[in-house]
Parts: sequence; C-alpha cells; structure tokens
Amino acid sequence: MGTGKRAIDTELVHAGEAAARAAGSVVPPIYQSAMYVMPSADGDSDYHDIRYIRLNNSPNHTLLADKLAAVCGAEAALVASSGMAAITSALLSHLQHGEHVIVQDCVYGGTHSFIHHDMVRMGISHDVVDGADPDSWKGALRGNTRVIYVEAISNPLMRVPELEAVTRFAAEHGLVSMIDATFATPINLRPAELGFDLELHSCTKYMGGHSDVVAGAVIGKASHVARAKRSLDHLGGCLDPHACFLLTRGLKTLGLRVRQQCHSAGVLARAIAESPHVARVNYPGLVDHPDHARATRLFDGFGGMLSFELAGGLAQAERLLGALTLPLRAPSLGGPETLVTRPARTSHAGLTPAERAAAGIADGLVRVSVGIEGTDDIVSDFVSALDTL
Ligand SMILES: *Cc1c(COP(=O)(O)O)cnc(C)c1O
Repeated sequence: MGTGKRAIDTELVHAGEAAARAAGSVVPPIYQSAMYVMPSADGDSDYHDIRYIRLNNSPNHTLLADKLAAVCGAEAALVASSGMAAITSALLSHLQHGEHVIVQDCVYGGTHSFIHHDMVRMGISHDVVDGADPDSWKGALRGNTRVIYVEAISNPLMRVPELEAVTRFAAEHGLVSMIDATFATPINLRPAELGFDLELHSCTKYMGGHSDVVAGAVIGKASHVARAKRSLDHLGGCLDPHACFLLTRGLKTLGLRVRQQCHSAGVLARAIAESPHVARVNYPGLVDHPDHARATRLFDGFGGMLSFELAGGLAQAERLLGALTLPLRAPSLGGPETLVTRPARTSHAGLTPAERAAAGIADGLVRVSVGIEGTDDIVSDFVSALDTL
C-alpha cells in the first residue's frame, strides 16, 4: 500500500458504507425496494436516473461496487447474481459473432463449457494456450482475437500463469485482458496493479466467505466495467438485496479469514506431502510446485486451496474421504468449513474423460478447500485418515 492509501482491511470494513447508511444505522440496511422514485419531480429524468434492482444500482449494490473497487485498487466494480453471471457478461460484452478469444487451459468447468459450447454456437471461436508458456501464445493470435482470458490460480492443480506476460501480450496486440481471480482473492493478488482490464470473481467463495450466498463481481477499468454492466442489465443477472447484505457482511472479514486459510493450507500441504500414500501435492506454496517461484513473486499468500493425488488411485481416494471426520464432502470452496471433493465428480464432471486426462485431472485426485477451523485439528484429521490407508 502506497502513501495516502488505506490498508485493504480498512477498505473492507469502511469503503462504500457511509452513503448507504440510514437513520443513524452503523450497518446499512437491506433496501428491499425493487424500484426508486425518480430524482426529478418534473418527469424529465431519463433512463440513466432509473434505480432498479435489475440494474444493480440500489444502495446495497453501489455500496458493494464502491467497496470492491476500493479493495481491489480498481476504477470500478459491479456485482452480479453469481460468478458465472459476472464471467459470461464480461465475455459477451467484449466479444461478438466472428471474434476470437485466447483462453488458458484448465479454466473453471462452467467457464470452460461456456467458451467451448455456448460461445461457439454464437460464432465466437477460441484457442486454448498453456498459461505458463507465453512464447506459445503468438501462435494462437488471429486477426479477430479480442480477449485473452486466464485464471490467477487454476483448479484443481493450482497452476499460476505468467500473469505479467498476459497484460504485456494484451497491450502489444490490442486485446482486452481478463482474469478470474476467485482463488487468489484481493488479499493475495490485485490484478489491477498488474494492468488487467477486468478481474472476475465468484463471490460465492472467499469474498462472501460463509457458504451462504451465491454472487459474482466484475472489477476493473471503468469503461470495461460499464460495458459488462450493459450486458448484465439485459441478461438480468442482478444480485438480490439480501444477498448484497450477506456479501457486504462477509467481505469485512476477508483478510482475517484468507490469511488464516493460507497459513493452514501451507501447514496441511507440507504434512500431507510426507505421507507415503500421497503421490503428489499441488500447492503453489510448496517449493516443488512448478509455479512456486512465480507465485512467490506475484502473490502475498499462496491461497487456501490445495489438491493431492493418492498413490492408490480412485479406490484409495474414496477410502481416504471416508476416513476423514472434520471436512465436509461438498463442492465449492472458500467458506469457514474445510471441504473436500474429487474434481472428476464435481468441478470437472462436465468435461469428457479425455478432456480431464489432458488437463491432468486423475480420478483419484482430492481437492481441499481449507477452512478456518484450528490448524492442528485440520492437519491431524488428514494425517490420521492417511495413516488408516
Ligand atoms: C465457483 C467458481 C466460478 C463460478 O461461480 P458461481 O458463483 O458458482 O457462479 C467461477 N470461477 C471460479 C474459479 C470458481 O471457483
């Protein structure tokens, strides 16, 4: 944080709040009003003065937009009804029929499916690249390429692309750079500082942080966010005011939660790696992770997500999941509870077995979203369960 700038934790608590308070309330209320009185009584206010929940501009929405922009050090922000509403609106607002997007391999399952199926039906083509190999990206460039799309930390192998090279490549070739930074969170990475045009989040995960709300955000340069907003206004992916309230409340503790999760994930990754039953641990904080040096340079923390492959494959992975007592077996991530999944059955179930194999996702791969329980309790549960195998 430079001079005159407040700490990210201060922005998480205070940014955007004042304008949304009512009747002296410390906590801004839920504005459960679908529409708002026009500001001009003589009836000559225009479309831009309309306040309506679908337009994501109620006091609950603008509070979040102001808070997220401040937290991310970005010009503007916009909340959406889900991470996928944010991602699809951002992509569709910057790509049209006949255009082309370069996308990193192994992106979130829903994004993968949208780019590979829905966008193809709309006449928008793509090429897939290795995010860690910038020299190969030029080969994917076409005259009609408009967007390059990456994820800060990929799921479930936790790969980290050459993020500085992405914004350099975008600037050189006149592309819009987009990054899904859900796994990194603004605590560990501020993509605006690297020059990304748009950053996308599933706020269902760490941002909300309590496994009780589905939400998304588009954050970045004002002109790009405005374009995404036009798409979102028409597609209708608005966030409900109550969900806005939950997201606002969750955000206040983002720093506390994520730093704790990063700490526990690091301890857990090192403990798991010692088990003779574990063939491989994927965590960018481990020195043997292929992107460790890059993650160290780019991130303030390595995140709360890790995955590992059991030497005994699918059957052993199932036995391990059965032996764990603390984590819940559930999809999604970023909440207070430690969660475990097998990505082949959850986040990447929409891929064909061949696509999964190409992406390096074995059937026996276990993914962990580390929660905020006591570090020792989390670690000892995994170590005990591994010892039973
Ligand atoms: C969950 C997730 C999404 C989709 O978000 P929803 O809120 O479920 O729509 C997108 N990207 C990443 C990286 C995710 O983890």
